[in-house]
Amino acid sequence: MGSNLSLAFRRGQFSGKVQDMRPIAFALLLCCACGSQKHLVSARDLDFHQRAIVIDAHSDVTEAIFYEGYDFGVRHQDHNSDLPRMREGGLDAQFFSIFVHPESVDLHEFFPQSMKEIDAVEAMVAANSSKIAMARTADQIKANAFAGKASALLGVEGGHLLLPGTEDEQLQHLRDFAARGVRYLTLSWSSSSPIGGSTAEGEQEGLTPFGKRVVAEMEKLGIIIDLSHGSDPLLWDVIRLARKPLLLTHSSSRELSHAPRNASDAMLTAVARNGGAVCVDFSRTYLDDNFRKASQALLQKTKGMHPSEKQKLYAGTTLPAVPLSALVDHIDHLVRIAGVDHVCLGSDYDSAPLFPVGLEDVSKLPVLTEEMRKRGRSDEDIEKILGGNLLRVLAANEDH
Ligand SMILES: [Zn+2]
Repeated sequence: MGSNLSLAFRRGQFSGKVQDMRPIAFALLLCCACGSQKHLVSARDLDFHQRAIVIDAHSDVTEAIFYEGYDFGVRHQDHNSDLPRMREGGLDAQFFSIFVHPESVDLHEFFPQSMKEIDAVEAMVAANSSKIAMARTADQIKANAFAGKASALLGVEGGHLLLPGTEDEQLQHLRDFAARGVRYLTLSWSSSSPIGGSTAEGEQEGLTPFGKRVVAEMEKLGIIIDLSHGSDPLLWDVIRLARKPLLLTHSSSRELSHAPRNASDAMLTAVARNGGAVCVDFSRTYLDDNFRKASQALLQKTKGMHPSEKQKLYAGTTLPAVPLSALVDHIDHLVRIAGVDHVCLGSDYDSAPLFPVGLEDVSKLPVLTEEMRKRGRSDEDIEKILGGNLLRVLAANEDH
């Protein structure tokens, strides 16, 4: 499913997007950005990567923009993403996560503050309108890329953000999110929501009766169901019910790393059958068991911290290094079990504390293309993983 669609974005059809690109210059630029590592992506891989439509399903940089006044339009040394580094990394479309921490913010503020975060993303886009534009659909992402602009999309992380209110009021909030252009809702976060349970909780709740109403309304509105963070019973309840392709926007393989947030092989097979996709999470926490065990103690300290505080805390520690190859091992496993039409990228940049060596920020994304090619993956497959599959899932949720 979807292979013809992906073929539509083959190389050579991106002339608008790559008009003024000089691959060699970009290669040198990427080399400089790597600092001490001096890693140079080949001109061919870089050219291919820049021509492909690359989409990241999950970044929490919105928190920095909203709480810290982080200027996304200029280059920074800290954080994991900004517009100049997005361009350098060939990232065409970024889903900005809308998130309100349920333990730090009063419940009555969940929905109102989410709307303010959407305002903040829109204001950032308006301030940088020659380089980035809001997008809601697969076609808009393509049109922006052809015009040489990045795309900003919205995803809401956590069903608790529909609160406060009665069930009907919460369903109205869902419609309000859709009207603002929100394209996915993560049904629960690290705490359960009125919709269903979370992987982070001992008691594993499935889909609630209200959750059933929410899921049906989401499919009507074209808001994609996101099951990252969802408890196992929630995932299975929803997958049985879903009529549209769904996503896990930031989850890796549970077979390779036993974090409950990751997807088991049975889940991968079920997502493939549903026509959806699993977007691999870049965080060391979800890639490597040794790293996760070694960082357990720190994890307790970071509760309620903003991502940038978390990252500062981790930066001063010596935790196991996780190579880029570990991430690509996860991609290979997802492809082996789910099939190449059902794998995508969900970096978790500006939320997770540490990333694989060589992929510390969004500017480094071409190394991922290079590593996939080194392992023998075809142009067509790489293109699907970089963005083609997400375009298909987006489009499939648009015809309602
Ligand atoms: Zn998350």
